[in-house]
Amino acid sequence: MEKLVFRFNNEISQSYINNKDILGGKGANLAQMAKLGLPVPPGFTISTKICDYFYQNNQKIPSKVIKQVKKEIGIIEKITKKKFGDLSNPLLVSVRSGSRVSMPGMMDTILNLGLNDKTVIALKKKTSNGRFAKDSYRRFIQMYSNVVLGVESYLFEELIDNYKLTKGVIQDTELEEDDWDGLIKNFKTVVKEKTKKVFPQDITQQLWGAIGAVLLSWNSKRAKTYRKINYIPDHWGTAVNIQAMVFGNMGENCATGVAFTRNPSTGTKEYFGEYLINAQGEDVVAGTRTPQYLSKKLRKESGSKGLSMEESMPENFKQLEKIFKKLELKYRDMQDIEFTVENKKLWMLQTRSGKRTAKASIKIAVDMVSEKLISIKEAILRVDPNILDSLLHPTLDEKAEKKVVASGLPASPGAASGKVVFSAEEAERLKEQMQDTILVRVETSPEDISGMHAAKGILTARGGMTSHAAVVARGMGKPCVSGSNEIKVDYEKKLFKSANYEIKEGDLITIDGGSGKVMLGKVPTVKPDISGDFSKLMKWVDKYRKLKVRTNAETPVDTKVARDFGAEGIGLCRTEHMFFDDKRIISVRQMILSNTLEDRKNALAKLLPFQKNDFIEIFKIMGGLPVTVRLLDPPLHEFLPKADKDIANVAKELKISNNDIKSRIIELHEQNPMLGHRGCRLGISFPEIYQMQCEAIFEALVECKKKKIKAVIPEIMIPLVSTAAEIQILRSLVEKIAEKVQKKYKIKIKYFVGTMIELPRAALRANDIAKYADFFSFGTNDLTQTTFGISRDDAGKFLNDYVDNKIFNKDPFVSIDDKGVGELIKIATERGRKQKKNLKLGICGEHGGDPASIEFCENAKLNYVSCSPYRVPIARLAAAQAYLKKK
Ligand code: PEP
Ligand code: MG
Repeated sequence: MEKLVFRFNNEISQSYINNKDILGGKGANLAQMAKLGLPVPPGFTISTKICDYFYQNNQKIPSKVIKQVKKEIGIIEKITKKKFGDLSNPLLVSVRSGSRVSMPGMMDTILNLGLNDKTVIALKKKTSNGRFAKDSYRRFIQMYSNVVLGVESYLFEELIDNYKLTKGVIQDTELEEDDWDGLIKNFKTVVKEKTKKVFPQDITQQLWGAIGAVLLSWNSKRAKTYRKINYIPDHWGTAVNIQAMVFGNMGENCATGVAFTRNPSTGTKEYFGEYLINAQGEDVVAGTRTPQYLSKKLRKESGSKGLSMEESMPENFKQLEKIFKKLELKYRDMQDIEFTVENKKLWMLQTRSGKRTAKASIKIAVDMVSEKLISIKEAILRVDPNILDSLLHPTLDEKAEKKVVASGLPASPGAASGKVVFSAEEAERLKEQMQDTILVRVETSPEDISGMHAAKGILTARGGMTSHAAVVARGMGKPCVSGSNEIKVDYEKKLFKSANYEIKEGDLITIDGGSGKVMLGKVPTVKPDISGDFSKLMKWVDKYRKLKVRTNAETPVDTKVARDFGAEGIGLCRTEHMFFDDKRIISVRQMILSNTLEDRKNALAKLLPFQKNDFIEIFKIMGGLPVTVRLLDPPLHEFLPKADKDIANVAKELKISNNDIKSRIIELHEQNPMLGHRGCRLGISFPEIYQMQCEAIFEALVECKKKKIKAVIPEIMIPLVSTAAEIQILRSLVEKIAEKVQKKYKIKIKYFVGTMIELPRAALRANDIAKYADFFSFGTNDLTQTTFGISRDDAGKFLNDYVDNKIFNKDPFVSIDDKGVGELIKIATERGRKQKKNLKLGICGEHGGDPASIEFCENAKLNYVSCSPYRVPIARLAAAQAYLKKK
């Protein structure tokens, strides 16, 4: 059998030291730190491969691994001069998970393993510290019972809280040995009640129980949800790391902390982190005690009175500073570190690339280039395109009036408004109804992950800058205010109170994760600042991409936003969307419902000036860049009047009765409008519609010329074509109108005519179709719909089941199905270009803004992608990454 157990800093393990697939991220980094000579407690990693074996073999561990684990424990015993289960100097270990990529807080950890009623006494004697020994034991019972035996943690927390109340103390650190003795007894009673068994005293049983639980936590609900959100494959599995315990809870010379080598919120090059004296790791992240700052500078800036680590443990802080530098140099990235100080000795427990906000991600990448730590290409590849989204959206208007309800820590920047909800379930429920929410919790736990994903922002009453809420929100790019101790949350009454306000479930609030403020109502926002580091990165990005990036836009406002974000043209102007306006829709309805050519022409005449003026505006903003105008393609039902009032209005306009309109609506009813009388089929049946649109385009060009506005070359696009004949007929219609307008105004007009490829037949017959098309634009929304035969309007109801059952990795309407839809694109590209060498090719379905699909487009050698305005920078970055990845 292959090697499954790896000792840190062992010669045989050296060849695996960079292999995160085997060691997991945590295991690999521990081994690497040990190799660097950093103080890492001795230990070993059981390979991620064990996870697969475990699940395939009835949750068993192979006997060879059991033997190796025993041997490795022996090695730890030798190094530490302690013995597992010994009654004079007992060894305690931690058992921790660690998959290939970090999944913070999603899987389980057990600390202080090896304690029982006897070893706890030995530990007390050995350390001459009864309080510490008992505190460690109660922590172990609490953690083990929760993780391995499934006893809910709050039952223990409640016992501690009640006890502290009766004793009149606030902090856990104020409890003495005797107090913990009493609590340990009560803890054990709870375990007995809940599990019908006594708390296990056999330390070998404890060890295998813990290893099993860590492996099982790979398939916990929260880990599965996290994997689904982050597209982490289920088969990766977790490794198990077993390591000698070091103690931050032995007294005042001890501490535990979390540190980032740079500020993960802003990206500023400053040591950032939190620590707690006389505590164990979970205290810092759990938010039960408020941790103190690491550096004096940040402590002062925050106005906090509690001493920073730099002030209280200057020697250890200096050591840490040195290690930070060493680690950044090695990993060439910002590191997220866990450490413990045991009786003035510093120990490193973890290092990994730190999660960061979008802003920090860009700043760190740009700074590291100027520090010569990384190259420009690496900087481009470091920034996840999807996180840019959070930077591109509006931030709070400084001038707007704000009613501040409370303040907390600025844990993850950005502004968000929404209805207050107190549970993850409610956030998810409202998201389904397209409602924005702010999830308010005392503190979040990994169970809340799906709710945090569903909410627009997160507010917690407890927990620091490295609390679960803060770390997860930053990772998700969601605004978060954490540790707002000015608010009191009452889950039962579904409200929270601050000094002057009472906010109930459903009330609207705004949070600003950049300032830590919580405000009443929806506060207005302003455009984001995309200068500075952002624009520097974008300039680099533009140098390294081949794909052009256009936008899907049909209003002047959207067009302007897209231009500002760097769009290099319009790839899709959906002309039917130009008619949604109240003043226009009546004429559209008149056009659709008219029974005679004359009525239809009347309606179209009313629409022409609107279209023409819109085009002039858009052409002006685009200043010479290409603009693809798609002729009308509405599934007609989208425009039919439904309300009696609207029916009456159209009837009046057409001078016919309401009943006549109603029967016309029935006549027009389609069983399957998406496959019905839409797209070019409308142009074939009612050429006058496309004629009007072409007139509007060409006349707008004439007008621009008159006004000396830089001319664009419009690309007139025919939708939903499946045969060469359709495009042949409609192309000549466009040409006729062009000739007419050119004659009328005695002006030469340049334009192109092309088609969308939205139907499998069009892709297959691309060679014929390309005879009549100057360009193809892949309409992958419809192409996905028609390739799978899945209605894009109804897919939401069952696609999740398909993702859950692993039929789809990702929703194919979001990320291109490269095997099916992608194959059709490749066929159409090849056949189209064979017919016409310089056929221009682009994509304008939603996939044009999805990084994975953009990579596909780069590899398929398309000329451009087109996406919604706010995704333009994302597409620019993704296009550069796709190009660089090929090199
Ligand atoms: C498409 O089908 O991909 C497309 C862009 O057109 P629409 O979404 O308007 O149908
Ligand atoms: Mg379409």
